[in-house]
Amino acid sequence: MNRATPRHLLHYVSGRLRLRRYLKKPGDGRRQPQIPASALLWALLIGQILREASFHAVEALAHSTARRTLRIATSFCDDTLGYFTERLDPAPTRQALLSLLRGAKRNKAFDDCRWIGLALDGSGAGWRTHQGCKLCRPQQNAAKQIPGYQHSLVMISVVGTSLSLPCDGEPYGPGDSEYAAGQRLLRRVIGSLGKRFAQYVVVDGGFATAPFLHTAGELGLRVVARLKDNFPELFTAAQQRFPCGAPATVFQHGADRVEMWDAEDFDPWETLHWEIVRVFFYRQHKPDGKVVEAYWLTNFASSTVGPAALFRMAKSRWEIENQGFNDAKTRHGLEHICHHHANSLLIGWLLTMLALTIERLYRLRYLHRGKHRVHDSAQLLLLLWLSLSRPCAANSS
Ligand SMILES: [Zn+2]
Repeated sequence: MNRATPRHLLHYVSGRLRLRRYLKKPGDGRRQPQIPASALLWALLIGQILREASFHAVEALAHSTARRTLRIATSFCDDTLGYFTERLDPAPTRQALLSLLRGAKRNKAFDDCRWIGLALDGSGAGWRTHQGCKLCRPQQNAAKQIPGYQHSLVMISVVGTSLSLPCDGEPYGPGDSEYAAGQRLLRRVIGSLGKRFAQYVVVDGGFATAPFLHTAGELGLRVVARLKDNFPELFTAAQQRFPCGAPATVFQHGADRVEMWDAEDFDPWETLHWEIVRVFFYRQHKPDGKVVEAYWLTNFASSTVGPAALFRMAKSRWEIENQGFNDAKTRHGLEHICHHHANSLLIGWLLTMLALTIERLYRLRYLHRGKHRVHDSAQLLLLLWLSLSRPCAANSS
């Protein structure tokens, strides 16, 4: 683990993760660049991994005595990053992210699980009091005034595998919607990864509309979705049926005891072209006496997926909340607007996801090999920062 340095990380990203070509040619759209795109891209990425994502902070790192240790080829000012990210094509970064997923599967990073899931969720990521880009979504208050503008995106992440890997994002501006963006995102990701990469998609109730569920089906995915009062008829039918009598199954989930009621003979609502709707209800008893209850729907047949596996799939949705948006916002500044321009925002969000995915593969699958114990992300962060105080070895290449 004490090998963890920016230099070692760059070597890992270029070689093992096969991103050398992407780091060299990330889709630069500048006409006559003075500073190489590779220097700026790596500076943004290592800044993200060091949790110093603002353009001012990245500029400060590039001007510091640690620049050589950070493997940032040259210094630059923060305006250069604004100009660069306005013009950087997002497609190569998206492809880089998906190539990491394909590599992870090829290298059996997910092998100890039977089901690979994808979770989608939307969130706000940046606030401005004045409109300034085409992604600005006006937010109206109760008095019908517009106090500010929100920026929003849908994120998709691999879940249910013990390795949460955010892998793409789709912004949605005014006139667009979370669930339309979610469909575009799912089509793009499965179009690139293929229909056999994952087996299910898990979503909150807001996505559980017939068009979204049909899109998932076309893409070869089963759906596990939260059932709330957005489908009053089905929700009422489910509430009338569950919980009633003894649970169909009782099992342990860690320290929690879970009671589950489950049936696959519910009628689909009028616009949903499913043969069956399986609805399940769980009551999860925590050791402190707290009880968590929820209704869910799925088109997995009970002969394919049993209750305990289905429960874990439903719970895997939390990964996009916790290891996705929460980590991205609290540790990587997802909500900070470095440069108020639609493409710059998108590039910032995608680089945050790339940094999260690279950090997890490096820490949990690469440094963890052999007898090395798993370190948490704060420990890796500290080692990377401490390495900056050591003199950089002369480059003999
Ligand atoms: Zn804006």
